Amino acid sequence: QLKPQTAGSDAVRSTPDINGHTPDIQQHFDNTHIIYDSTTDTTYLRGRLLGKGGFARCYEILNLNTNKIYAGKIISKARIAKPHQKQKILREVQLQKNLKHRHVVEFNSYFEDDNNVYIILENCSRKSLVHVLKHRKCLTEPEVRYYLRQLVDGVDYIHRNQIIHRDLKLGNMLLNHDMELKLADFGLATRVDFVGEKKMTVCGTPNYIAPEVLQKKGHSFEADIWAVGCITYALLVGRPPFETTTLKETYMRITENSYVLPPSLSPPVKNLIRRCLNADPLSRPNLHEILADEFFTCGYLPRSLSPACCTSVPKFP
Ligand code: ADP
Repeated sequence: QLKPQTAGSDAVRSTPDINGHTPDIQQHFDNTHIIYDSTTDTTYLRGRLLGKGGFARCYEILNLNTNKIYAGKIISKARIAKPHQKQKILREVQLQKNLKHRHVVEFNSYFEDDNNVYIILENCSRKSLVHVLKHRKCLTEPEVRYYLRQLVDGVDYIHRNQIIHRDLKLGNMLLNHDMELKLADFGLATRVDFVGEKKMTVCGTPNYIAPEVLQKKGHSFEADIWAVGCITYALLVGRPPFETTTLKETYMRITENSYVLPPSLSPPVKNLIRRCLNADPLSRPNLHEILADEFFTCGYLPRSLSPACCTSVPKFP
């Protein structure tokens, strides 16, 4: 049996079994797909595909020097031929490089070869909350407390580092082997350079876009709070609050602040969602106020979650 090791990541190392045999974890990796980082003289083997993004394909990769498993975002140079595309990736790396927090995907290294650029990250083997919701359709309030607390923790850390994420969504909330949430994808993120600075544009299309971002009025950290409200709604209801069949109509609903809270939601969570989805950014709660909200104290908050929760409804005490 493969024994997962929590070395700050989803790293897996082969450990001798009861008979002293070391299982060959390399068999899970493709010997024909070797990746070489000449800057550090490190060799990797490519494993299973974890997901595809706008530019990147993300694989589990094994560092043969250390026997640790990472997630490798592989981006073909042909797909980022335009200078601004490469610049965007370098900016993403620059923003993420120095972040270190339990609920933020840890950056390991960046390198290139003739064909690709590689971003080596902490492995989140249980993929994202998109995958969980695909199986589950919607989650229970205790589970939402569990994920939301970790999300808010991670977002608080990046905000304290003057970074606005700007694309918080289920697909950027990854889960490691131990079901710990890790905030990912700094592709649309930005650094706030001085107190009170307002950003005017986003280079890309955020999923849960806040009205002030949409209307190019100038935005800041509060745009992430809006997304937290959308995420809470989506996890409990199974679809986002402003969803329609066309982007144009969705944007109209966002501008009009038009959404419906199903009666099945508890009064505390409805209240929290309403506060986060306030049209006025300055009237939204800050991250500390979110964690102090009645929603977190009015019911059970699991300290850990079983991986079975990815596919079936848990029973809580
Ligand atoms: P892009 O920047 O091209 O949009 P993403 O960052 O969205 O690429 O990554 C693509 C997919 O790869 C994600 O949807 C996710 O499923 C998966 N992924 C990304 N980072 C990790 C990671 N650290 N661990 C596990 N899977 C990941």
